Amino acid sequence: MAIEVRKFDAIVVGGGGAGLRAALQLADSGLNVAVLSKVFPTRSHTVAAQGGIAAALSNLGQDDWHWHMYDTIKGSDYLGDQDAIEFMCKNAADAIYELEHFGMPFDRLDNGKIFQRPFGGMTRHYGAEAISRTCAVADRTGHAMLHTLYQRNVHAQTQFLIEWFALDLIRDADGDVLGVTALEIETGKVVAFHAKATLFATGGAGRIFHASTNAFINTGDGLGMTARAGFGLQDMEFWQFHPTGLANAGVLITEGVRGEGGYLVNSEGERFMERYAPNAKDLASRDVVSRSIATEVKAGRGIGIDSQAVWLKLDHLGEKVIDARLPGIRNIAIKFANVDPVREPIPVVPTVHYMMGGIPTNIDGQVVDNGKVVQGFYAVGECACVSVHGANRLGSNSLLDLMVFGKAAGNHMVESARNTSHKPLPADYADATEARLARLNNQQSGENVAEVGDAMRKAMQAHCGVFRFPELLAEGVEKIMQVAARIPYLEIQDKSQVFNTARVEALELENLIEVAKATMVSAHTRQESRGAHCREDFPNRDDEQWLKHSVYYRQNNLVAYSPVRLQPLTVPSFPLVARVY
Ligand SMILES: Cc1cc2nc3c(=O)[nH]c(=O)nc-3n(C[C@H](O)[C@H](O)[C@H](O)COP(=O)(O)OP(=O)(O)OC[C@H]3O[C@@H](n4cnc5c(N)ncnc54)[C@H](O)[C@@H]3O)c2cc1C
Repeated sequence: MAIEVRKFDAIVVGGGGAGLRAALQLADSGLNVAVLSKVFPTRSHTVAAQGGIAAALSNLGQDDWHWHMYDTIKGSDYLGDQDAIEFMCKNAADAIYELEHFGMPFDRLDNGKIFQRPFGGMTRHYGAEAISRTCAVADRTGHAMLHTLYQRNVHAQTQFLIEWFALDLIRDADGDVLGVTALEIETGKVVAFHAKATLFATGGAGRIFHASTNAFINTGDGLGMTARAGFGLQDMEFWQFHPTGLANAGVLITEGVRGEGGYLVNSEGERFMERYAPNAKDLASRDVVSRSIATEVKAGRGIGIDSQAVWLKLDHLGEKVIDARLPGIRNIAIKFANVDPVREPIPVVPTVHYMMGGIPTNIDGQVVDNGKVVQGFYAVGECACVSVHGANRLGSNSLLDLMVFGKAAGNHMVESARNTSHKPLPADYADATEARLARLNNQQSGENVAEVGDAMRKAMQAHCGVFRFPELLAEGVEKIMQVAARIPYLEIQDKSQVFNTARVEALELENLIEVAKATMVSAHTRQESRGAHCREDFPNRDDEQWLKHSVYYRQNNLVAYSPVRLQPLTVPSFPLVARVY
């Protein structure tokens, strides 16, 4: 069956912050660009970002992008690539002013400058004291950012293909990427999008875990497509657990709450972070706070159902501050936990939040495989690993990553699309996609999608959590491989074409399992503790053996390694110093 081909200069898969920032660059340059998104763009997970976006603006006392760079390298536990981190921190202020000029309604100080709040790990004078560096729009920063970018794209006449689900990358015999195949959810039609440059901005994959702050659409589709096309996935063992997910619901309670002065207490009413991080206390980096909560719970000082949670107290901030700075949080706490934070503390637990790993790229967003740039293929945002977050991301650095690298990738794609023509599609451009869809349509007496997904999420949750134990990891690898073996037999009862969400969910699970395998195998392989990866049997960071990125390949479950770029672009490299919080 011949599949329809549509040609564009550039295809952007994903309408979140990263995709829209890149698309704006492309459309403003007059290129023929289409943004494909499986949901309406402003429903992308970026809309849920609460706390803010970091930049050294010096609006509340002196700041310097070198300090931001130092904090980010240290926060990454030295696994971040220092050239990329320099690029991001140096361009941060411009990214904020650009958003301001696009019309993003930042909160203001009395003097009219952009408001900034403290966030974990952000310091002045290379770690000397905490600093207010995170720009915010109350606790709805992502919402404001995404709507601003969407409107700019409408103005720039970006073409949107909404509720289209990208299925597979198209590669030719040289290994170059020539586009993607995609399914129109409304009709069930499949089309091949042929482009000179293809960008993945498909976001995170938190839905491999049972408890997650991520939207249900965060299913790692970009990573699944990349792995199936034969490329590696980098640093997948590093998943950030946000210390304050709402107990039982998983909904995020922003770090901004602690930035505004909220703090954690255990069942004995003790402000326990003072013991674990005497300097930074409740604003220590997220891996530190998550592990401290897990330790308190293990010691029997938890609260709530099964004593698995701790309290987040903010009533002392007063109703006025809470309503002005944290209105969304008050709403979430009342709706999902039946507590009004103006009067009562909120029950919170560490919850999977962010994927530090992803598709490896350089600072122009070009995908790199085996040390070489893949022609025609780009990735930015949470699905990419550039890598600015290394082993642990600092809060408010992700939105910044989307803006800085979204723009850089867009610029590179403009240049590349202007200087090249479309390479011819290979004859088998849609074979893999057609085979996958046909199998799903013809499967009888197969596996139930919800049950297989559940088995995967439970295995990830139980075997690859905040603390990682050797036997649990070894068992976890086995369990995930058993789940993966069921994937080729997924069956959908409803085979209809129009708006068949059962088919989309099955296809999402095929992507999730690639992320789950990469995570579990990489976590089992890395024999050290670094950032968010905390091994009970190897409690220390081991720079001699493990100061390297892991790159997981789906073929044979192989983990290869690539060097960390310790040399910044222009400034001297930061030494590998011990972490003190
Ligand atoms: C609750 C929450 C709060 C957060 N708060 C902050 C914060 O305050 N500050 C901060 O810096 N970071 C924050 N983060 C992290 C940050 O928001 C995300 O990392 C970031 O928004 C991801 O943006 P993105 O553009 O990469 O992807 P997303 O915004 O997730 O967008 C992904 C896009 O890809 C599309 N897509 C995916 N798969 C397909 C497919 N197969 N076919 C077609 N389209 C597809 C989707 O439709 C969507 O448009 C938060 C994250 C969460 C979950």
